[in-house]
Amino acid sequence: MAILPDWRPAALKLADGRDFHLRHAWCVGRNYAEHAREMGSDPDRSDPVFFSKPAAAIVQADTVEWPPATGDLHHEAELVVFLAAGGRDLAPEQAAESVFGYAAGCDLTRRDVQARAKAAGMPWALSKGFDQSGPVGLIVPGDDWRPGDDTQIRLEVNGEARQSAVLGDMIWPVAELLARLSREVTLHPGDAVFTGTPSGVSGLAPGDRVRTEIAGLPALEFSIARGRN
Ligand code: MN
Repeated sequence: MAILPDWRPAALKLADGRDFHLRHAWCVGRNYAEHAREMGSDPDRSDPVFFSKPAAAIVQADTVEWPPATGDLHHEAELVVFLAAGGRDLAPEQAAESVFGYAAGCDLTRRDVQARAKAAGMPWALSKGFDQSGPVGLIVPGDDWRPGDDTQIRLEVNGEARQSAVLGDMIWPVAELLARLSREVTLHPGDAVFTGTPSGVSGLAPGDRVRTEIAGLPALEFSIARGRN
């Protein structure tokens, strides 16, 4: 008789020690104009680009592996929003009320894999959705922290600044972004949404120490392993 695998999703941690059970991780591309330009596209308020990472790729780890089959692993500092409620066709006000909390995150990207897929007109899912591709920091409830237009988001590698912006630079602010996403899919409690990255994305190397800071949230800090795990 086949034995059912005894599996359940790993919980992410809140800053207060509680567990957050992640259901699904959505991501948005091109949500900061300067980053859209550095990636060769023209920023405007056309519909945001949504994609996913597997929930199992969202990790809180001190070290993440160098992924297979890439020579160009990029960091993308991002605010990550976690949901306590969901629904479809949410108004921005309803979307804002569905937020549970926030964390600093990093959307790790195999940029060479993505570029080849784009050039070939192929899906680039695995340039974004590989193992450990979504490190996030400790989650803080929305009662204790909210994003402001002047809230700083920064990323440094080995102590050197690479990305620096304010959350007010987002083309689609959080509530509008969630509302737009809810027109395409049903949002659920337990979902996370990576809200896009500002300009300054760049290549990492094995052994690098990456630190993402969003003012008022616990910093996300991790190393890139020197060898395969
Ligand atoms: Mn991203």
